[in-house]
Amino acid sequence: MPDPQARAAEALLDWWDVCGVDVGDARAALRAATRARAVSGDSAAAPDAASARTRPARKPPQARPGVADARAAAAASHDLTALRAAIAAFDGCDLKKTARNTVFCDGAESADIMLVGEAPGRDEDEQGKPFVGRSGQLLDKMFAAIGFARSSNLFISNVIFWRPPGNREPTPAEVGQCQPFIERAIALKSPKILVFVGGVAAKAMLGGEAGVMKLRGRKLEYKPREGPSVNAMVMLHPAYLLRRPQEKRLAWNDLLLLEAWAEDLGVARGQRF
Ligand code: URA
Repeated sequence: MPDPQARAAEALLDWWDVCGVDVGDARAALRAATRARAVSGDSAAAPDAASARTRPARKPPQARPGVADARAAAAASHDLTALRAAIAAFDGCDLKKTARNTVFCDGAESADIMLVGEAPGRDEDEQGKPFVGRSGQLLDKMFAAIGFARSSNLFISNVIFWRPPGNREPTPAEVGQCQPFIERAIALKSPKILVFVGGVAAKAMLGGEAGVMKLRGRKLEYKPREGPSVNAMVMLHPAYLLRRPQEKRLAWNDLLLLEAWAEDLGVARGQRF
């Protein structure tokens, strides 16, 4: 009959495994102890003293960092340089394993306008900077048309910091693992207007069920976990505009709304191109 203690211990290890804990060593030790008990016929027997003396001490299984760890690391980062280092050191999002680079932010740290996109693509993963591929080039042109450039008055980041394989949409779990860091970036930057670029960023940061078409073209509020609300807007993602150029008309209306709002808030702008 199978040993009920061993069965219970195996079930516990299965659960840890599902939670992302590396249980390889613990499982091997359990099986060895179960075999030793079966041979000695003693279900409570301890591993024999000789093998305990020769076996190297095992490290306890390491729990994978979770969202609480991300939140603690983010909270401990008191500027964007520290936050960048905290993101790069965080191992709680599996996307990091397949990505070449951590992609955090680009642009002017003093900017009053902050854009938050979805996730790095191939070009961003190669260069370690957000929005540098085709959609980033379109984004730059769109904002240049109303006098904003990352070289002077625009700051850009994403809700996800590692490229999802094949550019698939990030899962809600991956968004949750990265979210404490982008929330902290927003708190540190404290922009006058936040622009969520595309539906994934809008849903992650604003919550609710409304889609991007419903949210775009309006003055909104982003409510952080702590501190005052931030002015926010949602725009169509430039990758979508590349696929559906007929929708650029809507994007232009959103840019004009942003331009007028920035003007009202006294946001410094460069020349329109
Ligand atoms: N799309 C995004 O949302 N972010 C990037 O950085 C690049 C493409």
